[in-house]
Amino acid sequence: MTYKTIIEPFRIKMVEPIRMTTEKERLQYLKKAKFNPFLLKAKDVIIDLLTDSGTSAMSSAQWAGIMQGDESYAGARSWEKMEHTIQDLTGYKYVLPTHQGRAAERILYGYIGGKDKTFISNTHFDTTRANIEFSGAEAIDCLTEVGRDPAINHPFKGNLDIPTLVEIIKQKGVKNIAAVILTVTNNSGGGQPVSMKNAKEVSDLCKKHGILFILDACRIAENAYFIKQREKGYKDKTYKQIAQEMFSLADGCTMSAKKDAIVNMGGFLALNDKKLSQECTNLLIITEGFTTYGGLSGRDMEALSIGLEEVFDADYLHYRIVSTTYLGNKLQEMGVPVMIPIGGHAVYIDAKAFYNHIPVKQYPGQALVCDLYLKGGIRSVEIGSVMFGKYDENGSLIPAPMDLVRLAIPRRVYTQSHIDYAIEVFERLVKEKSKAKGIKITKEPKFLRHFTAHFQLID
Ligand SMILES: *Cc1c(COP(=O)(O)O)cnc(C)c1O
Repeated sequence: MTYKTIIEPFRIKMVEPIRMTTEKERLQYLKKAKFNPFLLKAKDVIIDLLTDSGTSAMSSAQWAGIMQGDESYAGARSWEKMEHTIQDLTGYKYVLPTHQGRAAERILYGYIGGKDKTFISNTHFDTTRANIEFSGAEAIDCLTEVGRDPAINHPFKGNLDIPTLVEIIKQKGVKNIAAVILTVTNNSGGGQPVSMKNAKEVSDLCKKHGILFILDACRIAENAYFIKQREKGYKDKTYKQIAQEMFSLADGCTMSAKKDAIVNMGGFLALNDKKLSQECTNLLIITEGFTTYGGLSGRDMEALSIGLEEVFDADYLHYRIVSTTYLGNKLQEMGVPVMIPIGGHAVYIDAKAFYNHIPVKQYPGQALVCDLYLKGGIRSVEIGSVMFGKYDENGSLIPAPMDLVRLAIPRRVYTQSHIDYAIEVFERLVKEKSKAKGIKITKEPKFLRHFTAHFQLID
C-alpha cells in the first residue's frame, strides 16, 4: 500500500528561524532593493525560492564529513575522496576542482572559445552564455520546438533539436564549432529533462565530426529520475547507472556542486582529453588554486563527495521530484499558467500568459516576481526578457522567447506547509491579477544584468 501524502524522507534536528514580515514592511524593502529581488536582504524574505543553488540543507553525514576535512594544501585526503567519487560517477579521467560551476565554465570555455568560435546547446545557462560571449565566441540555443512551448506536454522538453544542430554545424563549418553543450536538466528552459536517446544522438553526431561534447551536469540526478520514469528501457536501472551512462556519451562535464551535489559551495570540471585538461589545469592554478583544491577547502570537498552519493538515493529523488510536482499541479489547478510537465527543481510560471495585460516590453515576469514578494514575502526570479533580452541597434527590446518566473525549491529545506503557504499566496495573486502593473529598467550593467539592474513600477 502506498499513501498519497508525500512526506519528507528525513527528520529535522537543527532549525533556522524565519522572521515574519508585514506587507507594509515588504513594500519598503522592495523599494530599497529597486524592485530587484537579488538586492533584497535574505532576512527580509519569508520563503526563499530565488534559487536551488547552494541553498540545500546538508545531511548529518555531510556535517560529520565537514569535521573530517583534510586542509592540507597539496594532496589532501579530502581531495582524494572527491576525485575518486567524481571519477567513479563520471568515468572521466581528469578532475579539476573549482569554487563553483561558472569557474569551470570560464576555464574551459575561455580556453576553447574566442572570436569566430560557436557553441551550441539545448539552452546555455546564463553564466555559460556569459562566459562564452565574454571570450568573444557565439552561443546558439538549439531547443526543440516543443521545448519552447510552455503549454505542450512532452516527456523530454529539454532535448536538443538534432536537425537544427546538423544545419548549424554545416553552416558554421565543423572547425568553428568549439563544443556542443547539453544542459541536464535544462535549467533556463524550464528544468526539463533530456532523454538518453537525445544525448546519444548528440554524441554520435559529435563523434562523427570530431566535435567536443560537454555535459552541463548540474542536475544530472534529477534528469536520471525522469529517464527512469519516462524512457523505455531504464525502469530497472538505478539512478546512478543512468547518470553514468549519460556521462559515458560525452567527453567531459562542468558541474555546479551547489545543485545536485547538495552542498553550499563547490564545483568541478572533468575531462577525458589529457592535453585539454593540462591546458585547463594551468588556468586553474592561476585563478582558482592548486590542482588538489581549486578554491575549495578540505571540508567542502568532503561534503561534496558525500552529497554526490546521497543525491542518487531513490527515496530522496522521489520526494524531490514529487514535491516539486505537487506545487506545480496546485498552481495549475487554480488557473496559473505553468510550464508543463513540471520540471525537476522548480516550477516555472508563464508570466506573459498570467499577466497578459502587461506588454513584454514592461517585463511581466519581473512584475510577478515583485508581487510575489510584496504579497507573500516569497522571493523568486524572472527568467525571461530581463535575463535574456537584448537591444537592437535602435535600442528597442528584443524579448526572450519566453517570459517565465521560476520558483526554485531548495533541496531538503522547506516542508509541505511552507509550500501550502506559497499556494495560498498565489490564490490571492490570481484574484488581484488585473491590478498588476508593468515595470521598467532604470539602470543596468552590460553582462548578466538581472543580478544588479534597478527597476521602477510603471503607473
Ligand atoms: C548554476 C548553474 C551553472 C553555474 O554554476 P554556479 O555554481 O552558479 O557558478 C551552470 N549551468 C547550470 C545549468 C546551472 O544551473
